[in-house]
Amino acid sequence: MEIKNHLKGGEFLVHHVKNTNAFVPEEFSEEQRMIADICQDFLEKEVFPNLDRIDAQEKGLMVNLLKKTGELGLLGLSIPEEYGGFGQSFVTSMIAADVLGAGHSYAVAYSADTGIGALPLLYYGSEELKQKYLPKIATGELLTAYCLTEPGAGSDANSGRTRATLSEDGKHYILNGQKMWITNGGFADLLTVFAKVDNDKILSCFLVERNTPGVTFGAEEHKMGIKGSSTVQIFFNDCKIPVENMIGKRGEGFRIALNILHIGRIKLGANVIGSMKRAINHSVQYANERKQFGTLISNFGAIKYKLAEQVIKTIANESALYRTSAYVDEKINEEIAKGKKKEEAYLEALGEYAMEAAILKVFGSEALDYIVDEAVQIHGGMGYSAEMPVDRCYRDSRINRIFEGTNEINRLVVADQYLKLAKKCDSPIFNIAKDLYANIDNYKGKINFDGDYFDRKATVIENFKKAIILIQYRAYETLGKQYSSEQEVMMSIADMIIQLYVAESLYLRVKKLETVKSSQEFSVYKDVLDAFIQEAALEIFNSGINAISSFATGDEYHKLFEAMQYFTQFEPMNVKESRRRIAQRLIENNYYNF
Ligand SMILES: Cc1cc2nc3c(=O)[nH]c(=O)nc-3n(C[C@H](O)[C@H](O)[C@H](O)COP(=O)(O)OP(=O)(O)OC[C@H]3O[C@@H](n4cnc5c(N)ncnc54)[C@H](O)[C@@H]3O)c2cc1C
Repeated sequence: MEIKNHLKGGEFLVHHVKNTNAFVPEEFSEEQRMIADICQDFLEKEVFPNLDRIDAQEKGLMVNLLKKTGELGLLGLSIPEEYGGFGQSFVTSMIAADVLGAGHSYAVAYSADTGIGALPLLYYGSEELKQKYLPKIATGELLTAYCLTEPGAGSDANSGRTRATLSEDGKHYILNGQKMWITNGGFADLLTVFAKVDNDKILSCFLVERNTPGVTFGAEEHKMGIKGSSTVQIFFNDCKIPVENMIGKRGEGFRIALNILHIGRIKLGANVIGSMKRAINHSVQYANERKQFGTLISNFGAIKYKLAEQVIKTIANESALYRTSAYVDEKINEEIAKGKKKEEAYLEALGEYAMEAAILKVFGSEALDYIVDEAVQIHGGMGYSAEMPVDRCYRDSRINRIFEGTNEINRLVVADQYLKLAKKCDSPIFNIAKDLYANIDNYKGKINFDGDYFDRKATVIENFKKAIILIQYRAYETLGKQYSSEQEVMMSIADMIIQLYVAESLYLRVKKLETVKSSQEFSVYKDVLDAFIQEAALEIFNSGINAISSFATGDEYHKLFEAMQYFTQFEPMNVKESRRRIAQRLIENNYYNF
């Protein structure tokens, strides 16, 4: 993959959009397209025909499917060749996650196995542990699970009470405790377990074999959705874990848990794409069959609006996902070129893009929830029937806002990461903020947009950045030490940043497509950008006003309000017509092919 001059984590907030380049899905290599086809073919042949059997948790079926996935090489994409995997790029592993993401419960099992289950060992494990287990993980001979959550320790994961005590002979840790909500727990052969050694305040991480005496498993949870995904409690009662099975150093477990969650969050941003496209296909196919008032419901503007919004959110999400994934690959290559070991380079890259990972998790899960909800709505009463496939789409979507860190926690991550960048007094953000505030009286009235189509869009996006920088600065200055406990303000700021990043990613993709697509094809992407930017501006304005009304009063409030009006302006255009054209293309094709 060609080097694209990636930005540092969070740098999009100050970097000029015109000087930014982003990798887009239209640049996938032949090999990457082939992997996408293999994944799609697997879903069509093995997963979609068996969805009811999977959801009924038919004995052995999920394990069988994962083993078959292993035979195709799809479980070893991220595992280096020296450990029996394929050593593919981060982007390629996201392509598999994206396509297989349409596979409902199977996708959850695949994602947990290849992501949070296996990666702590890959990135932090000793050479001996990696040699012993990774080749079998790459083929699917051993399946994995990630055991962090406990009954009393969910979002506050480091508060877990599972303990590991060194045995008298120093050869084992004796593990006692309980984990809950463990995906793949019903069958995983290897458990990555987080526990505190003795009276440590910070978690450590251990690799535990399923058949270790003292490990027992609870019954399958009855869940609202992803019913085919195995989710159980796991109990550890005086389990002897060899000391060499510690992953990373003592006390490093919490850092491992968080770093691995960064990957999980990006991966979730990929998984949702497959689910989005599947729900859109159900939506348009129904809308093209169902007649009311003597015409197909796909002819109604209200339905076209929903179909178009489904497509817009999907393309926007995809743009942000592949932009970020390529940044991760480029950062890894940069670190390796500096002499870092591959594993260290990965960790460096994942820490770097913590903010972007959280953005993808929140935007992707909420966009999918919107899409499946409108899919049900398009089906009317039939959407409420458990006989229709949208029933499964709707139920399976909801978990995405909860696991891999709830969306509240991820919004806090976005706001916290921003604060870290902004607090540095020599940071560009700090200087821009001070300058904006000093000149705040200038930011009112109407903007005259100049230049060509993309120049004008760039102006809008640059102004979004100014809006965020200004509001965050004033919030922080006004609230002082209280800032971090004013979560409502932090949520609003996070929402603004999320909209900005996705809007900018979409802009960069559409700009690139000008040279790649025919003018007819390209025009529909401009429609997508027009509609998304307008919506993002309105959302940024709303969030900004919510924030300032929480901390500003009197003259300050009015000045900030006017500045928000100024910085969230967009060119007036008929986005109803843009949405109609997007919907029309979907309706004519009768399936998603953007
Ligand atoms: C189907 C399923 C599969 C899962 N798979 C796994 C797995 O494989 N491995 C694993 O370790 N875990 C897994 N989990 C656990 C999951 O990660 C947790 O449920 C999640 O992190 C939330 O923790 P909790 O359920 O304890 O909610 P809580 O932490 O109790 O949160 C309850 C509410 O309070 C909010 N909240 C909590 N803290 C704060 C705060 N500081 N500020 C603002 N709001 C806050 C939350 O956002 C949420 O809205 C799974 C869960 C489910 C349901």
